[in-house]
Order: sequence, then structure tokens, then C-alpha cells
Amino acid sequence: MFDIPFLKPKLVVKEDYMDYLKQIDDSRSYSNYGALNTLFEQRLIRELFNGQGSAVTVNNATTGLILSISQLKRRGKYALMPSFTFAATPLAAMWCGLEPYFIDVCEKDWCMNEELLEKEINRLGDEVAVVIPYATFGTNLDTTSYEALQDRGIPVVIDAAASMGSKLTTHFGQGFTGAVVYSFHATKGFGIGEGGLIYSSDKEMINKVRQASNFGFNEDRESKQMGINGKLSEYAAAIGLATLEVFEQKKLKREQVFGWYMEGLEQLGLMEQGWQHQEVKGSVAYSFLSLLCPETYRNTHFVERLASSGIQTRTYFSPSCHQQALFQSYPRTLLHITEQIGRRIINLPLWEDMNQGNVETILQGLSHEG
Ligand SMILES: *Cc1c(COP(=O)(O)O)cnc(C)c1O
Repeated sequence: MFDIPFLKPKLVVKEDYMDYLKQIDDSRSYSNYGALNTLFEQRLIRELFNGQGSAVTVNNATTGLILSISQLKRRGKYALMPSFTFAATPLAAMWCGLEPYFIDVCEKDWCMNEELLEKEINRLGDEVAVVIPYATFGTNLDTTSYEALQDRGIPVVIDAAASMGSKLTTHFGQGFTGAVVYSFHATKGFGIGEGGLIYSSDKEMINKVRQASNFGFNEDRESKQMGINGKLSEYAAAIGLATLEVFEQKKLKREQVFGWYMEGLEQLGLMEQGWQHQEVKGSVAYSFLSLLCPETYRNTHFVERLASSGIQTRTYFSPSCHQQALFQSYPRTLLHITEQIGRRIINLPLWEDMNQGNVETILQGLSHEG
């Protein structure tokens, strides 16, 4: 047992969604895009995406990625993606009959290197079926170049699993013509247990994905296209609706913890000691803090040191995908930065109910004097 666990998710409590459960009991509608899923989708679009675009709920983001990739992919062999991502990204591509093709990331924002990507696209030509950038740890990834790929007929599905609630001038993903896939897993910033959302400015595409997510059925319940059951239950939508009511508050609490981290990093002079954080624009609904340790150390040194003080940490995404047995034979660019980050990354606890003392204790463990 750790004194400070890495994650301590805090979802809405049953009292917060009792009224919605009552509605389910009364309507006796439990799934199949019932009233609560419809309302949840509408409210997300209205309240987070300024009323722009369309969205469909899914039972998790991995299904969301599979549905989006299979809908958008063109003829071709490869799904271009960073290796610095969760296994769900390459797995989803593989479920769609594609081969992952790993691209290195940038040193500052830890997102796929767009110049390298462009080079590989030009080299691979028609063999590129889809591009799957990952908005690393919920960051507000600049989508300009990905929008340009869409214009060139190269489909883009963004893995935005941790980006629900991320905002620059608008919510991350708003207006994107490809697919943007968010997760509602309990450990993500907008946690409801299990669930996800596929967003796009392309209403027709979202409608097709909705159909695919319900066995590919048309109005006559005839399978018209490849399908799967990717639907979110009405019970999960009830929790989603209740979460929407308190999401801003929850996000603010975690932003306060984030602020304490930034303050502490400065006060302890950790940046001067060689610590680094991800370059992020705008606000993010963080569920952990990610740092790179000084180059002269390995992250495991600090993982062990903090563990001995009762503090649990993680090292996402190390090993990176290309270093895992299932994915290691897939093609890739040189992955120097990915591997460098993998040796240095450490993710620290950042949950609601943490106090400034907790943050100070954690940061002490990172300091020379710690
Ligand atoms: C969490 C996560 C997923 C998977 O989301 P689920 O809703 O659990 O399926 C996919 N990609 C990334 C990068 C993630 O962090």
C-alpha cells in the first residue's frame, strides 16, 4: 500500500445521478442510443464544443478508435502513429487489418514529429491507409497539419483519449473534419467508468459510425456495412450527464494541484537541476503530472526513491509500443526521442483531494537534497 497512490479516481456519487436512474426505470430503455445517450451527446456538443459538429458515444475509446479507423481508412497498408502512446492505438489499427508504422515524437511537446511524418507519407505514398496522431497526455495538439492531410485525402483519426476538457481558444478537436476519439475511462480527466466519444465536424461520417457501432444496421435492422456493438448503456450515459454538471469544478481542483506542482518545481529549483515538463498550451483536465528527470539519471531511480517514501508513480509510455513484444516487428523511423523520453519520464499523482503538503512531499523526493 502506498501513502499516496498514483491514481485515486473520484467519480460522481450515486446521489448525483439518481434522477437519471429513475428515468431509466420509468422509460425501460436501457441502451441503443436511448434518451440519456441522446441528451449526453447533445449536451457535450452544446456545452463543450460550442454547438459545433457531431458526436456519438461509444462503450470505450478503443472501440471508438476501431470504429473511426475502419470508417475513414483508405486502401493501403499502414497506420502511421507515434510509438509513444498507449497500446490501444496500435491495437485498434491492427483490428482494422492495418500495420502500425511508428514515427518518432518531438522533444518538447512529446507528440508525433510532423516533419518526419510528412517524409514518411511521401515515401510510402498509397501504402498509407490512415494517420493516427496522439494528443499526448491530453495536450491541445495543433491540428493544422492534420487538417491539411485530410484535405489531401489522407484520413486522420486523432487519439484524444485524455483530451476531454482540454481547451485552448476552443475545446480540443472542435471543428476537426476527421475523427477525434476521447475516453471516459475512470482514470481519465472526464471519468465515468467505461465509455468514450467520437467527435467530428462531418455529420455524415458520425452517422455512419453510429450505424457501424450498432451491428451496421440500417433502419430495417439489416446489416449494411461492417459493424460491431460499440454502444454505451443508458446507465453509463446517466453517469456522464451527472459528470458534465460538475466537470468544471473537478477540473479546477486538479488545476490547483497542478499549480502547486509548478510552484514547488520552481521553489526547489528542480528545473535548474535538469527536470523538464511537457510543453503544453491552454488548459488540460490532468489526471497525473508528467516530468522528465535529469538526463544523467534513469527514471527508475526516482520511481524507486518515491516508492520507498510511500509514493506510487508510473512511467507512461515506457516501454513504448515498439519495445513491446506484439509491436516490435512493425516498421518505424528512428525513435531516438521516444526512447530518450522513455528513459526519463515519470508520471506523478495528481488527483482531487491531494493537498499542497502531498505535492511538496513528492517534489522533495525528486530534489538533490531530497
Ligand atoms: C486510455 C487510452 C486509450 C483507451 O481508452 P479506453 O476508453 O480505456 O478504451 C487509448 N489511447 C490512449 C492514448 C489512452 O490513454
